[in-house]
Amino acid sequence: MKTALIIGRFQPFHLGHLLLIEEAAKHSDFIVIGIGSSQESHTKENPFTAQERRRMIERSLKIPKKFSIFDIPDIGNDELWVSHVEKLIPRFDIVYTNGELERRLFKESGYRVHATGFFNRDKYSGAEIRRRIISGEKWEDLVPEGTLAVMKEIDGVQRIKSLG
Ligand code: ATP
Ligand code: MG
Repeated sequence: MKTALIIGRFQPFHLGHLLLIEEAAKHSDFIVIGIGSSQESHTKENPFTAQERRRMIERSLKIPKKFSIFDIPDIGNDELWVSHVEKLIPRFDIVYTNGELERRLFKESGYRVHATGFFNRDKYSGAEIRRRIISGEKWEDLVPEGTLAVMKEIDGVQRIKSLG
C-alpha cells in the first residue's frame, strides 16, 4: 500500500491545496494530511485553529475513506523537523509538496518527494486569499465549497479582517 504525505498550514484550505491532494490521491492508496503550525491561530498569518482547518479539509475532500488528518505543531528546528513529523503521523512512502525547504528536508532524510508545480499560484495562495478578504475583493471562487461553508459558520471573513 502506497501512502502519500501532504503538509500545509491551510490558512485557509484553497483550490491549490485541493488539486495537490487530488493529484497525490490518483497515485496513492492512502493520504496522510498534516496540519502545520497547528498550535497557531488568531494571528494575521494563521487566523484559523487546527480544528477549523481540519473541518475545511474534511468538508472539501471527496475521497472520504482515503485520508486521515494529523496536527503538526512547529518545532522551530529544520534539522529535527522530519523526525518530529515521523513521530506524529503513520508511516508514509512519498511526500507531495511544492515547497523548496520541505522538499530538501524530506529528500535528505531519504524520502521520495514529488512536486506537482503550482496551480494558478497568483490566485490559489493563502496569502492572496487573506489579502483579498482584508481589502474586500472577491475570493470565494478560490476555495472549495467546504471551506466556504466553514468560513460562513465561524465568521472567517470577520476573523481575518479583525486580525489584518
Ligand atoms: P500561505 O500563503 O499562507 O503560505 P499557501 O497557499 O502557500 O499559504 P501552504 O499551506 O503554505 O499554502 O502550502 C501547503 C502545500 O500546498 C505546500 O506544499 C505548497 O507548496 C502547496 N501549495 C500551495 N498553493 C498551491 C498551489 N496553488 N498549487 C499547488 N500547490 C500549492
Ligand atoms: Mg506557503
